Amino acid sequence: MTKGVCILGSTGSIGVSTLDVLRLNKAAYSVQALTANKNMDLLLAQCIEFKPNYAVIPEPELAEKLRKKLQHSDAADTVVLSGEDSLASVTELQQVDIVVAAIVGAAGLLPTLAAANAGKKLLLANKEALVVSGDLLMSAVSKSGATLLPLDSEHNALFQCMPAGYRAGQCAAGIRKLILTASGGPFLHTNKAALAQVTVAQACAHPNWSMGKKISVDSATMMNKGLEVIEASYLFDMRADQIEVLVHPQSIVHSMVDYIDGSILAQLGQPDMRTPIAHALAWPDRQYSGVSALDFLSNNQLSFEAPNDEVFPCLRLAYNALKEKGTAPAVLNAANEVAVEGFLNESIRFVDIPAVVEKTLTSASIVAADSIPAVLQADSEARLLAQQFMRAYQ
Ligand code: NAD
Ligand code: MG
Repeated sequence: MTKGVCILGSTGSIGVSTLDVLRLNKAAYSVQALTANKNMDLLLAQCIEFKPNYAVIPEPELAEKLRKKLQHSDAADTVVLSGEDSLASVTELQQVDIVVAAIVGAAGLLPTLAAANAGKKLLLANKEALVVSGDLLMSAVSKSGATLLPLDSEHNALFQCMPAGYRAGQCAAGIRKLILTASGGPFLHTNKAALAQVTVAQACAHPNWSMGKKISVDSATMMNKGLEVIEASYLFDMRADQIEVLVHPQSIVHSMVDYIDGSILAQLGQPDMRTPIAHALAWPDRQYSGVSALDFLSNNQLSFEAPNDEVFPCLRLAYNALKEKGTAPAVLNAANEVAVEGFLNESIRFVDIPAVVEKTLTSASIVAADSIPAVLQADSEARLLAQQFMRAYQ
């Protein structure tokens, strides 16, 4: 029996890598739904190759263009849907077994939540959705009986190092701490003064991973690791003080679990997202990913160092938001999305990103994150505040 797959964000870096893995394991999967935001041409090519039952593109004009182009193609049976709600509804289809949540940012929250509520096998790359909604997403997973598997390389590594039978959301016994590794990004060892001058191209040129622009900038500011600390806290039910970040520039050890008996379990491999994607798609089995084995003799220098909170304050801001709880993580995330966008548009400098996030966190009112409307409200208010603060730097 093939498994029906829906990819939210199929035209992005994770979406394309997922389709690479599916192409290698064609007999095991059928692509049911693909979604994209703007890249209609790539979505068209993906539809022609994978012939999904549904393709979603939110803007009606783009959807109409896609419909016309598909009409006389090999994928004439693909139904094209528009509107934000269609992103959620394709995750709920009966023929969909697996949903890959690979939209970037809080924009992915509602469709990811819909997949969780529908009890699907949910492969989570979209960390911002979990950072924003926290316990709400985790309880949707446990109520519906959905299976949540992390795609983020660090969290997938931690999941693989958990005891047999482990399910995301459980607090496994016998763990002293989780050790999240961080490459340090393109500006590891760059001093604060030099950081003020860095360009968008430099910030997006990650030394080890090829990723979308937003996560590349987050990796350069270390906010990505901050978001990942929050993500790990919800996925593995751990407190902030049980999660440590260790800079490991080679990105070979993807993360580690430190057990109370002194054992440390690590997952190692090439820095290639097809490994966690193949693992989570096939879990609890294994399948080919197209990634070659790690050669230890040519990767014989693995080094570790402490993160520099003074030069990269985003990590500290994220720890503080996690400790504060409530809507603080949603506010942190929204302010960061606005500031990163501002940097990518060249309206603010790289070093202004943490300043905008910190000011927004200080002035936003933090309330209980007890409903999706409450977190969405916190998200919109934080975006307005962050835009105001950003004007001071333009
Ligand atoms: P990307 O920018 O390459 O792709 C994003 C995808 O989301 C695209 O398909 C885009 O069309 C879609 N999208 C963007 N905005 C949307 C909106 N408003 N509505 C609907 N669709 C929208 O991003 P990426 O690098 O693939 O990252 C995706 C997610 O996975 C992010 O949350 C990121 O943090 C996480 N992640 C990525 C990597 C990686 O290696 N790229 C690794 C770990 C985690
Ligand atoms: Mg990661």
